[in-house]
Amino acid sequence: MSNGPYWQGGCDCESVELLAVGTPLGADGRLGCLWWCEDDVQVAFGLGALVVEADYQGPGQAWRCRSCARRIWVALDDIVETPQALWPEVLGDEGDSGDSASLRERFGHGCLAP
Ligand SMILES: [Zn+2]
Repeated sequence: MSNGPYWQGGCDCESVELLAVGTPLGADGRLGCLWWCEDDVQVAFGLGALVVEADYQGPGQAWRCRSCARRIWVALDDIVETPQALWPEVLGDEGDSGDSASLRERFGHGCLAP
């Protein structure tokens, strides 16, 4: 964890609260995804409410909230993908930023139409 801006996120039912610091590694406004360094995101509250999505087809491991079924994140190596909707305050920017193209591919979204 480093100094700098920090962000609060969470699921619809507020069972899970997330805390992130710094800047996302990338963002994709069309997919509605943010990618973070794993070290920069932590579960501030509700770790026990996280369950693995057994039927997730993509690379990595997906977790959702047990109560509202909202996707919380997909963990792959040292990167986590989170739905942008969890983070009302992060990035007004709707476009690509950072390493979005390679991250998108890495997390199995590579076939998205241009
Ligand atoms: Zn929830």
